[in-house]
Amino acid sequence: MQKTLKALWEGSQFAKENLSFRETAALILEKYSLERDTLLLGKEIPQEISEKIISDMKRAVSGEPLGYILGKVPFYKEEYLVGEGVLIPRCDSEVLVEEAIKRIPEGTRFLDICTGSGCLGISVLKSRPDLTAALLDISPFSERWAKANIEYHGVSDRCTFEHFDLMKEVPPKASAIIMNPPYITTEEMNTLPENVKKEPSLALFGGDDGLDFYRRIKSLELKDTLLIFEIGAGQGEALKTLFHGGEIIKDLSNNNRVFIHTNQP
Ligand code: GLN
Repeated sequence: MQKTLKALWEGSQFAKENLSFRETAALILEKYSLERDTLLLGKEIPQEISEKIISDMKRAVSGEPLGYILGKVPFYKEEYLVGEGVLIPRCDSEVLVEEAIKRIPEGTRFLDICTGSGCLGISVLKSRPDLTAALLDISPFSERWAKANIEYHGVSDRCTFEHFDLMKEVPPKASAIIMNPPYITTEEMNTLPENVKKEPSLALFGGDDGLDFYRRIKSLELKDTLLIFEIGAGQGEALKTLFHGGEIIKDLSNNNRVFIHTNQP
């Protein structure tokens, strides 16, 4: 089987752009509760499982994001359930979670707008038992996965999911809004890696200059609301200009990643 999988892998576009064969195979083995060394040591795998593994590897070779194949990805201190149609949590977003944990006022309710899988809001709730939250998103895929994650993480007593169209509706009142909106520009959309292109453009494309969702929040003139947004690495100055000030926090790769601002009452 090792030979077959390797042959499948080598020469594929996916292999050039992403994880190595070994890492990917190891993660897929783990999904079926098999040890990492199963493949390398040539241990026996029941026919039924080996067929599933080959089918998963074929999906990986075809460029499908690994998160969708595994069905679960690590993020911050948890694991999140994901599937096709929802943005896969990125470790770049963990810095936003840390800032939100530090800054959201004690005992209040916050919103996670454009929540996707729910990974930001739920991670904040897990570290801050004093808070409650509403997770908002327009996508039916987000509804499915965010609700699954609310259950999976046992926070349904403090957290709801609401269908919400930010461009048409006004968000409910809250002490803070955390948001990782689509912020990829028209130009960047064309140069995304192949596997990212298989994630929903609804979760990626933020208008010509990537700023549509931030502009919409600005236009609402929300008073006394702590805003904590994920931003594209090159968007810091544009956000500061748009909101007439604000603070920028870098991610672990030293890229500008989070914008923080409070509208004065
Ligand atoms: N950081 C993500 C990416 O580069 C984009 C996420 C987003 O648009 N909010 O794929």
